[in-house]
Amino acid sequence: MTERHPNGFLKHERQPIGKRPPDERVQDYQEIYAPVWQEDQLREQGERCMDCGVPACMGGCPIGNLIPEWNDLVYRGLWREALDRLHATNNFPEFTGYTCPAPCEPACTLAYNADPVTIKDIERAIVDRGWEMGWITPQPPTRRSGRSVAVIGSGPAGLACAQQLNRAGHRVSVFERNDAIGGLMSRGIPDFKFAKYQVARRVGQLEAEGIEFHTGARIGVDPDLARLNERFDAVCLAIGALEHRNVELPGRELAGIHFGMDYLTAENRRQAGGRGSDDDTNHARDRHVVVLGGGDTGADCVATAHRQGAASVVQVSVRARAPGERPADNPWPLQPKTYKRTYAIDEGGEEAFSLDVTAFLDEDNDGRVDVLLADRVEWTLDEHGRRVDRTVTEAGVRLAADLVLIAIGFTGPEANDFAASGLALTRQGTFVTDDTMMTSREGIFATGDARRGQSLVVWAIGEGRDAARHIDSWLTGRPSRLPASLQTHNPPTEAG
Ligand SMILES: Cc1cc2nc3c(=O)[nH]c(=O)nc-3n(C[C@H](O)[C@H](O)[C@H](O)COP(=O)(O)OP(=O)(O)OC[C@H]3O[C@@H](n4cnc5c(N)ncnc54)[C@H](O)[C@@H]3O)c2cc1C
Ligand code: SF4
Repeated sequence: MTERHPNGFLKHERQPIGKRPPDERVQDYQEIYAPVWQEDQLREQGERCMDCGVPACMGGCPIGNLIPEWNDLVYRGLWREALDRLHATNNFPEFTGYTCPAPCEPACTLAYNADPVTIKDIERAIVDRGWEMGWITPQPPTRRSGRSVAVIGSGPAGLACAQQLNRAGHRVSVFERNDAIGGLMSRGIPDFKFAKYQVARRVGQLEAEGIEFHTGARIGVDPDLARLNERFDAVCLAIGALEHRNVELPGRELAGIHFGMDYLTAENRRQAGGRGSDDDTNHARDRHVVVLGGGDTGADCVATAHRQGAASVVQVSVRARAPGERPADNPWPLQPKTYKRTYAIDEGGEEAFSLDVTAFLDEDNDGRVDVLLADRVEWTLDEHGRRVDRTVTEAGVRLAADLVLIAIGFTGPEANDFAASGLALTRQGTFVTDDTMMTSREGIFATGDARRGQSLVVWAIGEGRDAARHIDSWLTGRPSRLPASLQTHNPPTEAG
């Protein structure tokens, strides 16, 4: 092996693994990422890491992944050791290595005036190699504690919490209302962004470690929380934050207007071999599609509409288009507030900014939406960047719309299932917890989006790990040996 170059970033340019060409990938539901990568390329990318004294990238990663350590191990070809360092902070590195928006990369010191290290792709490569080589195996605990925990919800937070608690020796049962385990990893994020075999093989590992899974189990309804609490020593609520944000506008009741999440879930089900939507207006084939919302959910709707054979797709954002360069008040290492074209728009369709929707019209009186009406506006922002006032620059903009997908975010956890439980909620509807992540009821904890609001997969994993640590301490009455996770505090970027 050649000696590591101290200035590897001068020797090698940033070269990500990359994605499949847009015109090829848009024809199918296979993952958009290039399926294979070259070992030499990845080792060179690892060599670009400057191994900074204070690694700013780790401050950018919500779970404090040991980035410089695994960059160096990859450069040296020590893939198995790199995998161990990755698993030290992250139960499911493929969840993040494929879907994370990588807030670590703009925080990388190189990003100050050059291209950052391809951290996310190195993470993906390490875990790809781990699965390929059979290094990722079940690690059941050597002894059982005699305590039991029910985890409600099987998204990344619930799964991380379950795996950590099980490894501490507690008996863990996961209850999921859906027919599939994985939360938004299975029934939200499209297959072409995260293939479902990746969820299935992790669930296989967790089952082999001794965790029990119950699907079709909607807790809060049957059984209710109190009955479940009697059966288990502790309960952890990891139910996500899936209450849709709606638009209250004239014409909202028309057929052909759906929530983006319902649309994505229907396609996820169809891809899994099940029925899609019962409503035939919730499909894009030959339709003019308008997606409301400029976030991740919106982008996933755009990309799904392309694959379903839409006649046209427009993604509408009420905000102005972000600048191409960092504004002066947004310097490194802050997360850049700049325009970034999404993978979905790379595949086709248009983006329309500064459009404030005013109504949905049914011009031929058949009960279905045909046109979306909007005002083009300029916003006055307050000192926090919040929109406070608008000036209409063009009234009555019309967009052809046979299918409208509302993807403007989520307000908090769905209230109904736990409405009768009496648990204290914040104004946003998330569970109030103390600094041990316990809710207002003794022995009932909350984690993930259900606690912090809609966020990112990486935050959910960190939340799940932290909740496990607190539950373990509470069950045993002594400080937990499970590692702490969200030690760094970085505001999550929006995942809308
Ligand atoms: C369309 C979309 C795309 C996204 N893309 C990305 C991305 O690319 N990268 C990224 O980092 N983040 C992304 N996110 C955000 C990310 O998916 C979430 O932040 C993350 O999944 C939250 O994890 P969680 O475990 O807290 O909750 P969830 O993943 O929401 O899981 C909660 C689970 O609880 C179950 N549940 C709810 N109520 C009950 C009940 N009463 N009984 C039993 N089970 C119940 C639900 O069915 C669900 O399976 C995206 C979100 C959406 C909506
Ligand atoms: S989890 Fe996300 S932020 Fe952390 S190292 Fe991986 S890509 Fe970066």
